[in-house]
Amino acid sequence: MPASFKAELVACFGQPVAENPTGVMQEAAFRALQLNWRYLTVEVPPTKLRDAIAGVRAFGMQGINLTIPHKVAVMQYLDEIAKDAAIIGAVNTVRRVGDRLIGENTDGKGFLRGLRADAGVDPRGKRAVVLGAGGAARAIVTELALAGTAEIVVVNRTPSRGEAMVAGLAAKTAAPIRFEAWSGAYPVSPATGILVNATSIGLYPDIDAMPPVDLRGASPGMLVCDAVFNPPETRLLNAARQLGLPVLDGLAMLVYQGVIGFELWTGQSAPEAVMKAALREALGVAP
Ligand code: NDP
Repeated sequence: MPASFKAELVACFGQPVAENPTGVMQEAAFRALQLNWRYLTVEVPPTKLRDAIAGVRAFGMQGINLTIPHKVAVMQYLDEIAKDAAIIGAVNTVRRVGDRLIGENTDGKGFLRGLRADAGVDPRGKRAVVLGAGGAARAIVTELALAGTAEIVVVNRTPSRGEAMVAGLAAKTAAPIRFEAWSGAYPVSPATGILVNATSIGLYPDIDAMPPVDLRGASPGMLVCDAVFNPPETRLLNAARQLGLPVLDGLAMLVYQGVIGFELWTGQSAPEAVMKAALREALGVAP
């Protein structure tokens, strides 16, 4: 019999939120470590976000995840924003320290952890090319910049959006980030160590779509990463595999943002293998 019947609460707030799989891996982790914690996946409309955060405080919840459309709006209701989340300009995780709610962003950190843990690649000193300039790209470019990547090239369909992101992040991180226009198939140069698709090209249901890139000039060790996790085996990763290039799928980023969230909330090491298996099972992906 447990010493206490009180459960600790964490949640994901979003709209729509029903297809967000993070709760499955967090619940599996709580069970594996026999923690009396619950992860609730809750639909919160934008007009109710303020009340929902008041609820987090009233219930003494340990933390939350935020997804579409709350990642920016939530910032005004928090007591502190972590440095990288402030640079990214979005919060996907909140942790509670005493009575204070602190905003974090674990998307880019999750990507980086996957890079190091699953692909065995440290971006320090390498040249990275990131396709896209949306929320995922912003988080990934910020963490690559803070991790000492030698050069980051952002390539985006809409130049104004890409240029604005690059100007903002270069000023805030003092890292060598620059923009290149995307016309036709982007030729990946042999100097590139890491290529990341942070666009939504290839996302279900457009699973036959592939970002227009020419991989023929890539060096043999160039790591090809995709942020798209549904499906995890994208056409880009398939094309890279056929050329013998190492790959990292979007499930790694998804699992590790959850791993980092678990660690921020509970203060314990996350059971990574349990979380990975739970996520793969929930998404119907072979182990
Ligand atoms: P956004 O809507 O913020 O950005 C979308 C980006 O994709 C933009 O740069 C957009 O370019 C580009 N894009 C979309 N369609 C095309 C196209 N046909 N041709 C060229 N460029 C295109 O989305 P997010 O940044 O939030 O998400 C991007 C992807 O990352 C999604 O697939 C999402 O599921 C995934 N993701 C994965 C995570 C993980 O944990 N694995 C976490 C977060 C996101 P433009 O500016 O020109 O419109």
